[in-house]
Amino acid sequence: MSSNVTLRRCVSCRQLHDRCKLLRVIRLPSGQGLVLDQGMGRSAYLCPKRCCLEDARKRRRLQRALRVPVADSVYDALAQRLEPEAEKPLRQDEDSPSHAE
Ligand SMILES: [Zn+2]
Repeated sequence: MSSNVTLRRCVSCRQLHDRCKLLRVIRLPSGQGLVLDQGMGRSAYLCPKRCCLEDARKRRRLQRALRVPVADSVYDALAQRLEPEAEKPLRQDEDSPSHAE
């Protein structure tokens, strides 16, 4: 059992997770706004899952946790960082070149 894990609570599902697996939103001091990942200030954590992000957006959970308005752009930035959906295993052949554009 590893005890070297810092647990943080997701603002949506209220479950504890390893901090490094969660998305972090930080409210910078003196009205400097919000940043993701790094910074000093009040922090809120969110699972990198669509359900938690959508719940946070609908119920303004980040806003409540951080006590400042949270712009849609913050949620959009978080949405870019979601983990791929685990329910559908995508069997992509990593060796084949992806057919982008
Ligand atoms: Zn969660």
